[in-house]
Amino acid sequence: MRRPMVAGNWKMNGNREMAGNLISEIDRGLSVELATSVEVLVCPPYVLLESTGALCSDTPMKLGAQNLDIHESGAFTGEISGPMLLDCGCEYVIVGHSERRALFGDTDELVGIKTRAAFEKGLVPIVCVGETQEEREKGVMANVVSRQLEAVFSETQGNVFPKALVAYEPVWAIGTGLTASEAQAQEVHALIRERLSQVSAEAADSTRILYGGSVKPENAEGLFGQPDIDGGLIGGASLHAQDFIDIISAAKS
Ligand code: PEP
Repeated sequence: MRRPMVAGNWKMNGNREMAGNLISEIDRGLSVELATSVEVLVCPPYVLLESTGALCSDTPMKLGAQNLDIHESGAFTGEISGPMLLDCGCEYVIVGHSERRALFGDTDELVGIKTRAAFEKGLVPIVCVGETQEEREKGVMANVVSRQLEAVFSETQGNVFPKALVAYEPVWAIGTGLTASEAQAQEVHALIRERLSQVSAEAADSTRILYGGSVKPENAEGLFGQPDIDGGLIGGASLHAQDFIDIISAAKS
């Protein structure tokens, strides 16, 4: 039985005041029953990790980061390492978000190395994969998602799964208001699970695969009701407490 997760990716948004209000509002909406059945994660920007982690410590919410550097320490100005994230109270880290792939040069290989670095340091990676609109139109969606996963398998020998999570985030659905239909999302999640079976039956059965891309309270239940969708990675809607709570409620089985 895979416990669903709903993770909020705040991207480069927020300040301490906003984080304080958001965390306390979300916490008020999280009943014990809801928090028991759904794992809830927030991923604020680096500078808010420590203060947000302190706010989360009396709540069921867990803390994750949005990225990490592959090195442990040293002359890498502006970068943040896995051990630093652990020291701030992070349990999870997002790797290979499409914005990092498109804007900051995170190649498939680098995403694989980041996944390994995170796992070796004791963080749970949430590995993002997904095709662009152009790739979907060309009919190469399956090749792209498989290639992105293969790079992670080859850098980690796959042994990060089933602890690590995969997030399927079609690039054309992120922040655009366009959402993959339930059938489109389920098709790719099933493909990802099939690829995970190359690693092991346990990886295929137990790895949680999140869907991300304009998830809203209105579409969450239908998406999360699909057999291979185990919750969501939420951008914009995670900045609105009531929307985030409604999305979490939709993940409750
Ligand atoms: C994301 O950034 O991972 C994301 C899914 O964003 P949004 O929900 O805003 O599309």
